[in-house]
Amino acid sequence: MNPSLKSFNTFGIQVYAKHIAVIESAQELLAAWTDATSNGQPAILLGEGSNILFLKDFDGTVIVNRIKGIQITEQDDSWLLHVGAGENWHQLVEKTLLQGIAGLENLALIPGCVGSSPIQNIGAYGIEIKQVCQYVDCIDLNSGQAVRLDNEQCQFGYRDSIFKHADYKHYAIVAVGLKLAKKWQPVLTYGSLTQLDPENVTAQQIFDSVCEMRTSKLPDPKVTGNAGSFFKNPVITAKEAQELLIHYPHAPHYPQIDGQVKLAAGWLIDQCQLKGHQVGGAAVHQQQALVLINEDNASSADIVALAHYVRQQVGNKFNVWLEPEVRFIGSTQEVSGLETIA
Ligand code: NAP
Repeated sequence: MNPSLKSFNTFGIQVYAKHIAVIESAQELLAAWTDATSNGQPAILLGEGSNILFLKDFDGTVIVNRIKGIQITEQDDSWLLHVGAGENWHQLVEKTLLQGIAGLENLALIPGCVGSSPIQNIGAYGIEIKQVCQYVDCIDLNSGQAVRLDNEQCQFGYRDSIFKHADYKHYAIVAVGLKLAKKWQPVLTYGSLTQLDPENVTAQQIFDSVCEMRTSKLPDPKVTGNAGSFFKNPVITAKEAQELLIHYPHAPHYPQIDGQVKLAAGWLIDQCQLKGHQVGGAAVHQQQALVLINEDNASSADIVALAHYVRQQVGNKFNVWLEPEVRFIGSTQEVSGLETIA
């Protein structure tokens, strides 16, 4: 009987792999990869499976990264953290705060592990990991060599980095280096954080507010399967935004430094009256329309059909075409999420 991947993906989709290898060091990772792929068999690397949708059974080995360890070095003006890729992200945020190290509080409760955080440049409540990431340590799976990429080499973008590009798919992340300045600046631009007093606020208060906001509207994957925001917030040209705002003056919109305008995908979906909309066992979350949930034993086909429907409804109403943020895994490798739901 092939092992189940249900507990290895936060959507909770019941699919199977031929093998699952849980690794705890860079050496184990390389050995597991070499072993799994030696006779041309497919293999993929997985963290906590919090941003993926398995479309089918995986016809090879799933290598689960559980490399642990947090080393903290104090400098005059900053804290340097070297963190194993398999550490849980939220636990890292908690641990740093407990030690009086601020800077990660806005990123509380983001599901997933530290090694996955640079891949999509995780961001929330006005902070992205690119602002604190000093380097990413990888193993080049083709050569077996250790490679360190500095912040610039990671080419961080909106929910994007070099690790998503085809040429870097053979880089396995084994550790992440973070630099947190001792001269801490609170970031209070989002939601209820705007009500906090910038002169007196503590990192702990921000952490508490972020946890409160997130738990009030985002489903806990331990209770209801989901992979966080299913779609990216669309970024459109200023001209397109102007036209949209003539018809929908209340549409939330956020001008970007490059002149483009970011829209809130959740708002667009909500305007199509899709909160709670169900296809099979999959549904649009009631509290946050950007999140698709596994309501009742959903299959990946249910989720794909729902995502397709949501994309069509939003596209037909606003002429804005949503793209998945979640990554899709086929039977042998990652496949295009956009092509799958289009
Ligand atoms: P929200 O407050 O309902 O706002 C909707 C969207 O508008 C957000 O996604 C955010 O874009 C944008 N936005 C809101 N205030 C903004 C501001 N002051 N400046 C610029 N953009 C602003 O969002 P939410 O769903 O509760 O999420 C809150 C934060 O957590 C967001 O940063 C969101 O990205 C993050 N989050 C991420 C995931 C994920 O799976 N990736 C899941 C849940 C929440 P941005 O997303 O670009 O920030």
